[in-house]
Amino acid sequence: MAGRSRLTRTAALVAGVATATLAAATLAACTSTTAGRGSTGSPRADGASRRASGPAAPSASPSRTAPSSGASSCPARYPSPDPNRPRMRLSFTVSDDLTTVTGREQIAFTPDRRITELVFRLTANTRPTVQQGNRIVVRSATADHGGGRFTVSPANAAPSTQGGLLHIPFASPVAAGTTVNASIAFTVTLGQMSFDRFGRTDGYAWFASAQPLLAWQRGYGWHTEDLIDVTAESATSEAMDVDLTVTAPGRDTVIASGDPADPSASSSPRTWHSHLDSARDVSVSVGPFSVSDTTVGGVKLRLGAFSPAIRDSLVLEFTRAIRSLVALLGPFPFPSLSVARLPAGGGGIEYPSSILMLDGSRLVAVHETAHQYFYAMVGDSQSLHPWLDEAFAQYTEERIDGDAPNDRAIDAPGRVDSSVESYGADSDRYYFTTYNKGAAALHAAERAAGTGPWDRALRCYVAANAWRIVVPADFQRAIRTLPASIAVLRKAGALP
Ligand SMILES: [Zn+2]
Repeated sequence: MAGRSRLTRTAALVAGVATATLAAATLAACTSTTAGRGSTGSPRADGASRRASGPAAPSASPSRTAPSSGASSCPARYPSPDPNRPRMRLSFTVSDDLTTVTGREQIAFTPDRRITELVFRLTANTRPTVQQGNRIVVRSATADHGGGRFTVSPANAAPSTQGGLLHIPFASPVAAGTTVNASIAFTVTLGQMSFDRFGRTDGYAWFASAQPLLAWQRGYGWHTEDLIDVTAESATSEAMDVDLTVTAPGRDTVIASGDPADPSASSSPRTWHSHLDSARDVSVSVGPFSVSDTTVGGVKLRLGAFSPAIRDSLVLEFTRAIRSLVALLGPFPFPSLSVARLPAGGGGIEYPSSILMLDGSRLVAVHETAHQYFYAMVGDSQSLHPWLDEAFAQYTEERIDGDAPNDRAIDAPGRVDSSVESYGADSDRYYFTTYNKGAAALHAAERAAGTGPWDRALRCYVAANAWRIVVPADFQRAIRTLPASIAVLRKAGALP
């Protein structure tokens, strides 16, 4: 996500104002904030969550062969996603007035350890999200193997909602390796608002993390972190095989993860369908988009915007972003990227193979496209270790755009590797420490190693960890031959 604290800089970049002045202003604003409540801990960094290479490689096309690094631990290709990954069949129906989404989720889940329940995250019930008029209501939730009556625990959700975590208990424990099938029916209400992953305005609607999100991580177990108090990401989800169906008013176009093709029929409503071999989540946008379809180095780029001029300018920005990121990091993670530029103000929000743009700037375009590598392919706990995707997205954007890093941020207080929850409602401090200080630490680490060795290690890190969920120790392992960089990142509190 590129959010509120970065928008000043975004707007200023567009206006041609020097970034150094803004960086200093941001630092001054953030050093006066109060102390956080402390980290909630880390997933284990044991090897149990490492993915086996399966034969059904979604990245088998030659265009997605990883770059050679010369390092023995650097795979020549992205590993295949786990053959035992969850399989999610998801359908959304958007009401004609765009206020309501009715959904059904069917999931086949094979845990790698014994379980006594299923747990799903109800992101739409996050407090600031509900304040804008959004929410999710679970209507039914069932599972085989003795799945009992569902419950919903508060988990810091808005008090007016069902709660933040959906639980389906089992009458008796289910053994590891057993495939459990669950079915959930739910309704999402969309509020009239601007910057969040849920909203509607001027004939457009958008929603993401709208379904109850399976909260399992192989080698770790259930992620039961509270919903957070700021508009940011806080989910942890495994890469899944996803079948997505969206039914929307016939007048509208759907822009969504997996690049659903336009329906041939002109009836109303119309149904859109896509399939993703490996995706942690999906986003969906609905509206009378002006659409462009292009191909960038083998990647299908679909861009929908509320005006042809904005559409065309963003096609150029995303074409540049994809090409630059492929050159820096390796083959693009997905066969397609679908971008929806919505008539609302804010920044951008990343989802696998899709982006919600509530801003038209180059900065946000590159930042969100970088998240296709850091979060969508190389996954992390967005709740416990948000720097592993946000600092990397900001650092990468600054590299590509030639933006001067905010070097002074590295001296600001606070550990870069801190959970979102530890910041409470202090979004300024969360954004500054996670994004600005985190990116400054990565720039300093790059200088300590030299750009050549650093870039080779970064590309190998991406290739070796495709479709996994990483922890800071995984990055430390990737740069183990660069001790000066490790020292820099430890001093900033990014590595253990
Ligand atoms: Zn971001």
